[in-house]
Amino acid sequence: MQTHREMNFDALVVGGGIAGLQAALDLADQNFKVAVVEKDASIGGKMIRLSKVFPTLDCASCITTPKMAASAHHENITLFTYCDLKSISRESDTVLAARVVQKPRYVEADKCIGCRQCEYGCPVHVPDPEQGNFSMRKAIYIPFSNAIPQIALMDVENCSLCGKCAKVCPTGAVNYFQQPEELVIRAKTAVLATGFRLTPLDQKPEYGKGKILNVISSLDMERLLAPHGPYQRVLRPSDGKEPDAIAYVQCAGSRDKTLGVSYCSRVCCMYAIKQAMLLSGALPLADITIYYMDIRAFGKGYEQFFQNAKAMGIEFVKAKIAKIEQADNQSVRLRYEDQEGAGAVMEREHDLVVLSLGMVPEWHPEGICPVGCDTDAFIRTPMSRLSPTLTDMEGVFVAGVAAGPKDIVDTIAEAGAAAMEASNYLNKLNKKAAA
Ligand SMILES: Cc1cc2nc3c(=O)[nH]c(=O)nc-3n(C[C@H](O)[C@H](O)[C@H](O)COP(=O)(O)OP(=O)(O)OC[C@H]3O[C@@H](n4cnc5c(N)ncnc54)[C@H](O)[C@@H]3O)c2cc1C
Repeated sequence: MQTHREMNFDALVVGGGIAGLQAALDLADQNFKVAVVEKDASIGGKMIRLSKVFPTLDCASCITTPKMAASAHHENITLFTYCDLKSISRESDTVLAARVVQKPRYVEADKCIGCRQCEYGCPVHVPDPEQGNFSMRKAIYIPFSNAIPQIALMDVENCSLCGKCAKVCPTGAVNYFQQPEELVIRAKTAVLATGFRLTPLDQKPEYGKGKILNVISSLDMERLLAPHGPYQRVLRPSDGKEPDAIAYVQCAGSRDKTLGVSYCSRVCCMYAIKQAMLLSGALPLADITIYYMDIRAFGKGYEQFFQNAKAMGIEFVKAKIAKIEQADNQSVRLRYEDQEGAGAVMEREHDLVVLSLGMVPEWHPEGICPVGCDTDAFIRTPMSRLSPTLTDMEGVFVAGVAAGPKDIVDTIAEAGAAAMEASNYLNKLNKKAAA
């Protein structure tokens, strides 16, 4: 390690997704000093990577970017991006200490002006995970156009060490010798907002284990539909054809004991309906079919949203998909039991199939932070009836999908509640100290 820095804050927020940002803003507005630790190179979480949001169809990036910018510019918030959280432990009755490693970007943050000259000059092209690997990025890059902070980072595994980025950088920010930096962040309270990842695409042999080219995940489809997506239109990945028939497979990674995910992920019905509506706008002649077990349209305005989708001509077939196979002409064959008809086993082919994968926790605290988890692996909230954001570690609260699957509205509400609990806790500590 090159350097070691120690810093004190009132509150630590782990995770810079919409839950973490909302909690940080609510605490910072009450004049508490907040540190946000994010593992990715940009804040924004999944929400900044979505196309539009149900049920209003607001542009996701238009409503997330202002929150990201407000957090970045707030005088009481300090962002630590591209960081590895090593541990959170209690140092005393009133102090938590987080050990964090600031990973090297190989670009000096205080010199980089986000001009992207390094990116334009870099000759190496690699698949861009930010765009579902459908398009390419450079080996030195800014994660995406509205990333915050706008600081480049180098993908050393793919860098050819040609030196072109360093030559064109107008501020001399490229530093091939940058070392990781160890940070100790002390705070009196913490909010865990570490969110989710999708259930892995490759774990279900019946669904092709991620090897059938035109079977994609729901987050991949978010990128295909996004205004800054890889093609700026919806094309299927295998051959760039505009798909005429698109299918959604619901509960592809939820309510499935074989994957260890027996719960409902709560957002998949709604995001599939949203994507289907957006697709019928983008591809007006395409047939869109949603294969579902039950439609769970539980939130405000959601049932109407579902009814609107039916009225738009989106086909809903009550069936559990048993098998997904490669068919001729790069199509995908679905085998299912038609549960509303005669119960017959049916087969149908589609140009493109989207798996509505469920949510599993992004972060597992074992060995890092002594908060407990439930049997579903999300962070345990022992007082979930009356205080749903309390964890079983005093002074540590949880918000958003880190505590269990939920949509953006519930995530924001929960983040506000976690910030309120953390602020009450801080006020009590401060009163005790003053007495
Ligand atoms: C395909 C899809 C479409 C969706 N569409 C909608 C929609 O239209 N409307 C709607 O209401 N909801 C939608 N959702 C749900 C929505 O994405 C979530 O409700 C929301 O993103 C939850 O925010 P979060 O902050 O809890 O989690 P996340 O967005 O996952 O953010 C968590 C953050 O924590 C960071 N992190 C994780 N572990 C660590 C660690 N150890 N250290 C530091 N940082 C860490 C992550 O990098 C991430 O930035 C959709 C979900 C999916 C999958």
